[in-house]
Amino acid sequence: MASQNLTEAQLLKFELMDKGVVLSDDAVAALADLNQNRSLSPHDYASTSGVILNLDDDVWVNAPIELYNPNFVSRTPYVLDFDGGFAVEGAGLASRASFWPQPEYHGSTLNIGPLNHYVVTHGDRARLSPVRSCSMTCTFCNIPYDDPISVYTLKPVDAIVSAAKVALDDPLQPARHMLISGGTPKPKDIPWMQELYATVLEAFPGTQVDLMMVPLPGLFDLPRLASLGLHEVSINIELFNRDRAREYMRNKFNQGLDFYLDFIESATDELGPGRARSMLMVGLESIEDTLAGVRAIAERGGTPVLSPFRPDMSTPLKNEKPPSAEFMRETFERASEIVSEFGVFLGPDCPPCSHNTLNFATGVDGHISYPHDRPVMLGARG
Ligand code: SF4
Repeated sequence: MASQNLTEAQLLKFELMDKGVVLSDDAVAALADLNQNRSLSPHDYASTSGVILNLDDDVWVNAPIELYNPNFVSRTPYVLDFDGGFAVEGAGLASRASFWPQPEYHGSTLNIGPLNHYVVTHGDRARLSPVRSCSMTCTFCNIPYDDPISVYTLKPVDAIVSAAKVALDDPLQPARHMLISGGTPKPKDIPWMQELYATVLEAFPGTQVDLMMVPLPGLFDLPRLASLGLHEVSINIELFNRDRAREYMRNKFNQGLDFYLDFIESATDELGPGRARSMLMVGLESIEDTLAGVRAIAERGGTPVLSPFRPDMSTPLKNEKPPSAEFMRETFERASEIVSEFGVFLGPDCPPCSHNTLNFATGVDGHISYPHDRPVMLGARG
């Protein structure tokens, strides 16, 4: 296996995603002072359950903590400490760190109800959730278990737009771009979803808006979305191995792999190179299967995104383990070689949005650049 010269902070990212981090007493005291009484993490989704840290070399990581992942973060050797600034140390690795504080609006309520019912910010991106529950069931995803299909609801469009404005105007941690994501609507609600997409794109013409959604037949009118200024679309294959796909995500399996790949190709044609992403979940299938998925996405002009499986406490997979650091590292290194053959890169290219993905947000030129203002961070060593 080829081995890249990864830095200590880059190696730490894989280790933290595998084993998580504990907070020392000094770190807890520093956070009580700097972060006051705000929660440490939005913990709204399986892959966003940890603390967001910025390490040396501008490495972003969402590090699981025991509070939200007691299922696997009990015996980690990695400690977040504070001594005039945050640092992560353990098992022979160390890096300085800074801590991402949540926006002020998180946990607050307006006349439209709890704002986090509509929007949650991670890093510099606000994620809008127009549908409560999901018409599909993937067993690695918390959405259908947090909110079963009996509570499936379309949320009021004006409330979604109002909540998005609050996220963009947050006085502490303003969102710089947006993602409209799941759950997946029922087929009868596709016209509603199409209008929701158009309404949000028209309401925020100066803000990059991405869509992450199952490619339901008839949902995406790509020419219309392109004319409305859609930035990127994410069509997530998740699992390339068809047996694993049938086992963990039967509804998406039934749509067929070619359907997804054809859509990625047409979205790239319509929106332009680098603007159709597809996520692959690392750890629920073999490395070879994931790499075959990386190649298939890159061949169609899409941007592969590697997302490590994190067992969520609300799902049937809560007793599984995340992939090992070595498994993640090998997948990342071999996937990097594949994408370079096709002149594409491992997404996302927004550094803060790489907190929960297996990449370092280096674009095709191998450099990190920030398309938006950097998030506010706490506790960086001066
Ligand atoms: S379709 Fe998406 S939102 Fe619905 S259960 Fe699967 S991963 Fe979760």
